[in-house]
Amino acid sequence: MLRFAFGFIVLAALAAAVAWLAGIPSAVVFDVAGYRIETTLVAAALALVVVLGAFAGMLRGYIWFKGGPARIAAARAEWRRRRGIKALTEGLAAIAAGDAKQARLLARRAEALLDEPALTLMLSAQAAELAGDTGLARTRFEAMLARPETEFLGVRGLLAEAQRSGDTPRALGLARRAFAAAPDSPTAAMALFALEAESGHWAEADALLRTRAATAAFAPAEARKFATIAQYERAAQAEARGLPEAAFELARRVHKLSPSFVPGALVYARIATALGRSEVARAAIRVTWRRRPHPLLVDALEAVAPAEAPPRRLKRIEKLIVYNPDHAESRIALAQAAIAASQFDRARAALAPLAVGPAPDARVCALMAALESAAGASEPAATWRARAGSAPTDPGFACTACGARHAQFRATCQGCGAFGSLDAFAADPAGAEQTGLLARVFGPPRRGAVADLPTPPSVA
Ligand SMILES: [Zn+2]
Repeated sequence: MLRFAFGFIVLAALAAAVAWLAGIPSAVVFDVAGYRIETTLVAAALALVVVLGAFAGMLRGYIWFKGGPARIAAARAEWRRRRGIKALTEGLAAIAAGDAKQARLLARRAEALLDEPALTLMLSAQAAELAGDTGLARTRFEAMLARPETEFLGVRGLLAEAQRSGDTPRALGLARRAFAAAPDSPTAAMALFALEAESGHWAEADALLRTRAATAAFAPAEARKFATIAQYERAAQAEARGLPEAAFELARRVHKLSPSFVPGALVYARIATALGRSEVARAAIRVTWRRRPHPLLVDALEAVAPAEAPPRRLKRIEKLIVYNPDHAESRIALAQAAIAASQFDRARAALAPLAVGPAPDARVCALMAALESAAGASEPAATWRARAGSAPTDPGFACTACGARHAQFRATCQGCGAFGSLDAFAADPAGAEQTGLLARVFGPPRRGAVADLPTPPSVA
């Protein structure tokens, strides 16, 4: 507004000046190359203005002409960039919608239009994955490894592909690289832990649990449970390699970390027994029985002194079950020891609450058959024996996720692939979702891959 007012004042002043000059009788004479030009002052001033204006216009035109190609190129680049970003955005939407054909088309367009490999490689890799073109997806992910800003995404893509194709050694190498590229990433830590565990590298898995990224990846109770399992596996490995002292120390730590963990107490008691430390073995079994009574602990107690006389063994069972005498496993353990010591009334009293109901445990039926036999009642004994044959029994460990039964403890359920899901602890301390760790990182396995897993029930 101020500029406009100023311009108006200048114009008005010029007009006044021209009018004043026009009123003055004057003459201007030019002598140029032998020509004489005679004119008025006003006409000369106007001619000067016209000449100057024409010169300024030509100068501007020259400057525009010289800068033209750069300007046109810039406008073209901007147009390409906009179209490229549009293709990229629509491509991501197509991936989200599961439209593989459209996603690939848009990925190719974005790659042609944009000079942003970090963005377009990711889109084209995902589009290729969606279309099932694993070869192209792999080359795109591999191209991403060359740039620091896309290295992690590239490794992650290759890792997911290796995991889906069941190539564990390759997946482990990639998971290590991903964790090295992003040491604070909980996802990378979780994937690496799962693959170290799957590869039986329990020392590495155990060490990984102490990193900051793993602390962020797992809830504290879950991390403790996984550390227990990793250290238990280390102890079992040391025992298998014939290193009893190292195995003893590892097993002692497992038992201290999770006293309710039955396999921990079993391995600790076994190694302590082998080293002649019977009282350590018995104490560990008692500590765990108090939290999680399990028939394998009774076997372990017997294994401490296999030649012991039945009355002595009965005394040991009485001491074992002192804190939970009414637990079904305590009653079964007492009945077994009492029958061996010929204390039949005691055994009958212990079994009485378990022998009622439509489907007693097979071990209860077998013990009742033994009691009836000892009492000379052959007909009830035969009935109990027949029932024992078809009755359910509960040794071993069950998967809390899929229900598959395992005679031996396993870190990973063979039925459903869940990690740490077997009911070997007093209760599930994590209370978290029970899935395979890699499924948590990469989502559930694709259809078809599920069919390759062994069928859940009756896993030995
Ligand atoms: Zn399972």
